[in-house]
Amino acid sequence: MPNKKEIGYRPTWAEVDLNNLADNLRKVSAGLSPKTRVLVTVKADAYGHGLIPVSKKLSGLGVDFLGVASIDEGIKLRQAGINIPVLILGVVLSKDISPIAKFGLTPTVCDEQSAAAFNRLAKRSGRRLDVHVKIDTGMGRIGVQYKDAFKLLQKISRLPAIRIEGLFTHFPLADINKRFTLAQIRLFDELILGLKRSGIAIPLVHVANSVGLADYKNSHFNMVRPGLVIYGLYPKENLNIKLKPVLSLKSRVVFVKDVPKGFGVSYAHAYVTRRPGRIVTLPIGYGDGYPRNLSNKAPVLIGGRRFKICGRICMDQIMVDVGSYKVRVGEEAVLIGKQNKEEITVEELAKLSGTIPYEISCGLGSRIPRVYRP
Ligand SMILES: *Cc1c(COP(=O)(O)O)cnc(C)c1O
Repeated sequence: MPNKKEIGYRPTWAEVDLNNLADNLRKVSAGLSPKTRVLVTVKADAYGHGLIPVSKKLSGLGVDFLGVASIDEGIKLRQAGINIPVLILGVVLSKDISPIAKFGLTPTVCDEQSAAAFNRLAKRSGRRLDVHVKIDTGMGRIGVQYKDAFKLLQKISRLPAIRIEGLFTHFPLADINKRFTLAQIRLFDELILGLKRSGIAIPLVHVANSVGLADYKNSHFNMVRPGLVIYGLYPKENLNIKLKPVLSLKSRVVFVKDVPKGFGVSYAHAYVTRRPGRIVTLPIGYGDGYPRNLSNKAPVLIGGRRFKICGRICMDQIMVDVGSYKVRVGEEAVLIGKQNKEEITVEELAKLSGTIPYEISCGLGSRIPRVYRP
């Protein structure tokens, strides 16, 4: 049970089980060829699990690369003393690139202008800079379009101060369209073959996100790039890996009231009791990133039983109708995770909320203290 030092005075917190994180990494790695390297994406505060504790754990477990979205996330890793390679997966503006050399981060390059800017930066800093080039084989986001990729790679490979360390692309449809995804892999194979023929050797080639890793063995190349599965969450149903959820979300009952039939609860009285019973209040709300559209929908575990949130979710509080169950003030409530034999998963909440597990876990706000186990 976390103490005040860990969570402060509001009894709402998230527990992050780093042993389960390690277990998931082991499970995922067991399905890879021993030579395949692993980059784990830790962007967005490690999908809401906490950038630094998660990254320290992963780095200690021998992960080869960490993937972040921005220069700022990369700087935070370096300032925490994490020294393994860090790839910035997003595009950065050329005027902002000087920290990349200073903090030893690896940028993504998608065009000639930014390649030239990195080349100048490397010259100025007196040290070679490794870059990864992103190819758009169908995502339609960042990345040089496939038809222009070979020419760009040739040009970049002639810049003296930078080295193309990596080549990558991303799947938009891996969970829903096998044919399209296999065609992307084929395009990538052809590009690599062409590069080899013209004497351009690129040490790292990476394509597979979580679904790619699990469902497309031929997308592993020599590095994989999972995020979600490492956090024990499923990007789709029926993934053939057994994972352990890493994050639990907990709170405590702070108020109990006995109410008659016909009693309206919370804004707009979107819930009215159909029988006499008991309404409890938990100190968590949409101000913590708990989605408001789970009002009257989401389950909550109290005393090892499943109850439902009743009425509108407020900014800082939610109510639960526990019927005739005798709840004590101070009793623990689980919003994500296990209590006795019951369990609420992020996937279940995502479905109820009409979103994806990613958005639920990233959305949990900084007001929720994270407590790390072990
Ligand atoms: C976030 C991200 C990943 C990881 O995706 P998951 O579905 O979480 O495994 C991989 N590649 C890129 C470019 C990403 O931005």
